[in-house]
Amino acid sequence: MKINTAESFDTIDLSETTRKTLNALNFTRMTPVQAVTLPNFLSNKDVVVQSKTGSGKTLSFVIPVIEICQGLKSFMLNDVLAVIISPTRELAKQTYDVTVKFSENTNLVVQCLIGGVDIQADVKKVREFGGNILVTTPGRLWDIMEKCSDFLLFKKLEVLVFDEADKLIQMGFQSKVTEIIGKLPKQRRTGLFSATLNDSIKELIKVGLRNPVKINVTDSH
Ligand code: ADP
Ligand code: MG
Repeated sequence: MKINTAESFDTIDLSETTRKTLNALNFTRMTPVQAVTLPNFLSNKDVVVQSKTGSGKTLSFVIPVIEICQGLKSFMLNDVLAVIISPTRELAKQTYDVTVKFSENTNLVVQCLIGGVDIQADVKKVREFGGNILVTTPGRLWDIMEKCSDFLLFKKLEVLVFDEADKLIQMGFQSKVTEIIGKLPKQRRTGLFSATLNDSIKELIKVGLRNPVKINVTDSH
């Protein structure tokens, strides 16, 4: 599938490590949704992003997550700086792979925490290696927050991302996600990404986001 692209990534102020990864992937131009989302999410704004599947939403949040976390002066391995919530294990794994690629040559620890894996194994790897960026599904995130509450610290959380929000709602995660939001610091940036918006998602936006910039890219390609 040919992807529709807009301006060059060079029009945005990005770290050297992010530029290197983009070059390695041969990504030179942003997709339209990236071109609008990146400058907003990289500044201090919450974003609601609606655009169709395959339009490049993943990098619209992975790049800001990496840039924002990398920009922090001091943190420990057990400081959770960013949480990316996916509706399914498969999506979380895909997002994890992209996030790991962009975290190369940084000192950020990225963890993939999803159901289907023995919870004790996840607890062990979190206690052993920490977790600055968690790519996760709602149930597993909740369990890890409980089981590692004496170790993982969320008070420095900078970025929260809901990926495929329509699917999160469809799969019945609305109340779990709301409970999770209730346990996270309010001073943070939050992004919500979805192919479609409905009333339940708007409810989630009210609970989890603050004055979000609403981005709706309906390109015709
Ligand atoms: P979405 O989350 O909107 O469904 P993805 O983020 O999964 O879309 O991106 C779809 C595909 O486009 C992926 O294979 C991704 O690697 C590719 N892609 C994303 N951004 C770019 C870009 N700027 N240049 C070229 N390919 C890109
Ligand atoms: Mg996606």
